[in-house]
Amino acid sequence: FVSLSLQAKMSRPVQARRLEGTDKNIWVEFVKLAATYSKVNLGQGFPDFPPPDFLKESFVRALSGENHMLHQYTRAFGHPPLVKILAQFFGKLLGRDLDPMTNVMVTVGAYQALFCCFQALVDEGDEVIIIEPFFDCYEPMVKMAGGTPVFVPLRPKAPKDGKLMSSADWQLDPAELSSKFSGRTKAIVLNSPNNPLGKVFSREELELIADLCVKHDVLCISDEVYEWLVYDGKEHIRIATLRGMWDRTVIIGSAGKTFSATGWKVGWTVGPNRLLQHLRTVHQNSVYHCATIAQEAVAQGFQRELELYGKPDSYFVQLPKELQQKRDWLVQSLDAVGMKPIIPEGTYFLVADISKFKSDVPDVPDSDETYDSRFAKWMVKNKGLAAIPLSAFYSGAHKNNYNHFIRFCFAKEEATLKAANDILQKWKQEKTSP
Ligand code: PMP
Repeated sequence: FVSLSLQAKMSRPVQARRLEGTDKNIWVEFVKLAATYSKVNLGQGFPDFPPPDFLKESFVRALSGENHMLHQYTRAFGHPPLVKILAQFFGKLLGRDLDPMTNVMVTVGAYQALFCCFQALVDEGDEVIIIEPFFDCYEPMVKMAGGTPVFVPLRPKAPKDGKLMSSADWQLDPAELSSKFSGRTKAIVLNSPNNPLGKVFSREELELIADLCVKHDVLCISDEVYEWLVYDGKEHIRIATLRGMWDRTVIIGSAGKTFSATGWKVGWTVGPNRLLQHLRTVHQNSVYHCATIAQEAVAQGFQRELELYGKPDSYFVQLPKELQQKRDWLVQSLDAVGMKPIIPEGTYFLVADISKFKSDVPDVPDSDETYDSRFAKWMVKNKGLAAIPLSAFYSGAHKNNYNHFIRFCFAKEEATLKAANDILQKWKQEKTSP
């Protein structure tokens, strides 16, 4: 009797409806595969080199210095020294006076900043425009808030002269983008520089988006975590600086990407109080508070960067220089074996075309799994090289639209990139030798 009544109780659904369709997560699967099989991991996006010494030293000072209060709670919406320096720094970048207490909020990484935005701004029935390919968490986060994601693709145009494609060749169709905006649209998510392509949106493209936002009274969630990782003299333009956009934009940033310390999980939002006040409500009713010592160390990192702004010793000047070199190495390695890279203008990701390697991976007719996903799994198991299938960055119905690409992360030590090159060269030789 006891077991029967227990069973009856357990048959009741335990899962909240808002979780429907959001349970699968590509990273859980691919991180495990990489941990089990990879010799060289260019999959998940994190540097395998250390953060700069000045940042580590700030952390150590905060940890073992005189101010033992740094081991205790600090202000819920951001440690005062951090929000103050972020207000100063972003005030300079945006060309406006920012109030540290109302225009800045610190979060547990950019990930929690995104979660706060969707929970605070999106209602049941609201539509949110997402540009494909996209950082995969946008879709489930919109759905968990009760919203409906509406997708619009970046469409590739092959360069005429047979040159390698650039991320700039992936563009929005203005008429298609405009057709997605309606009275139901609450927000658009913009991610420039874009993960996974590395696309840096041009002023023209941003103006197109901005004009549509203003025309339809739509908010912009601007994920700018790769703001400093821009190459070849390109400029990262902040959409919040365009006409009519400050009042409707939340800017999201990440110390993880900015200072090569993804494990610290310090992120922030910058925006008008009319939007941030609602983000604060979500924050105070969920996470409430972020690690004080990490915030203190990031504050000191920004203090240094403010003093060195634009100078050769600035980390924000040095890091992209080093990464551009790493990008070029990986581009060369991939191009040499015929795994055609799309040259990224920004971020530390690079997408490559695997069409020429198709014959290596056994075909599974009628498989539900996309080709790129099978390829990435086969590659890590058989070659020890981990990458992420591009289809992971598309919504369910569109996963087969561009399914012959994989994404590599090149924020890696020279030795790691060399080891990747060795694997690719050996693979190519095995393919060509009879
Ligand atoms: N946005 C984008 C586009 C990202 O690529 C990432 C990390 N991969 C995040 C947000 C999350 O950043 P964080 O680690 O600071 O939470």
